[in-house]
Amino acid sequence: MSKEILGIHHITAIADDPQQNLDFYAGFLGLRLVKLTVNYDDPQTYHLYYGDGQGNPGTILTFFPWPGAMKGRQGNGQVTYTAFSVPEGALAYWTKRLTEHSVEFEGPYNRFQERVIAFSDPDGLRLELVAGPSFGPEKGWQAGPIPLEYAIHGFHSATLAEEGYERTASLLTDTLRFRLVQQEGNRFRYAVGPGEPGSVVDVVCTPDGSMGRVAAGTVHHIAWRTADDQQQREWHTEIARQGYNITPVIDRKYFHSIYFREPGGVLFEIATDPPGFTVDEPLESLGTKLVLPDWLESQRSHIEAHLPPIRLSKANPARSA
Ligand code: ZN
Repeated sequence: MSKEILGIHHITAIADDPQQNLDFYAGFLGLRLVKLTVNYDDPQTYHLYYGDGQGNPGTILTFFPWPGAMKGRQGNGQVTYTAFSVPEGALAYWTKRLTEHSVEFEGPYNRFQERVIAFSDPDGLRLELVAGPSFGPEKGWQAGPIPLEYAIHGFHSATLAEEGYERTASLLTDTLRFRLVQQEGNRFRYAVGPGEPGSVVDVVCTPDGSMGRVAAGTVHHIAWRTADDQQQREWHTEIARQGYNITPVIDRKYFHSIYFREPGGVLFEIATDPPGFTVDEPLESLGTKLVLPDWLESQRSHIEAHLPPIRLSKANPARSA
């Protein structure tokens, strides 16, 4: 089978305080913490993975929390909005919840026949909730704090801010085989496959904007799904042939990754669906304890002693009636 991009695999961002990040994404937004591990390149800091109830690719938002990190600046060459999909009719619940938790928000407003609200996480990372027909109600986290009829089902889309447009558009359509599906002003919407939530990317062309600076409160990179190692090798060959400076395959334990920078400056990754998050702990207990790759296990006591303490129970409250 020829290689395909299946949608967004994960988005990785930078945070400041890990507890604040956990309380917001697991406790407030109701995502499941699907993996509690460390940054393999900097094992004395966490790497937190949030997702749906099963940790499916296409629902995974990950963070490197660096306490005291410099604050970043959103701008061109970045993913400036990460949008989650919620069921139609769920926005009234969310506007009430945001208000009750004193989280400022904008909207709801219309975009491409859908209703959107926008807000920021505690570090300033820009987020959206997009209400639309539900493609995966089974994906909500059953044991999470949000009733399933309102729960986040994974990504809706990501917005890339770009100074220029043509070369990014060409990469998306000619190489990665996205289709331009809608356009509104300076916003161009692309999709792969049937265009369901999680397979959509918006390119917003802002030639007057300044370049972003990646630090706390900004996205570090966006990863696209590919089915397996064979397709990833084919992607690697094709992207290298087009002159992109692409990394070799890197083993991220839960997926295998290749990275390259798209023409507008956003760091792209292509990640395999397998082996997934149940490779080192059972589905029922994903995210409930610190897991380390084999090569760091011998340093566990040292690593645990240097990681900031976090309380998972505060981030994972039981569902309130
Ligand atoms: Zn990644």
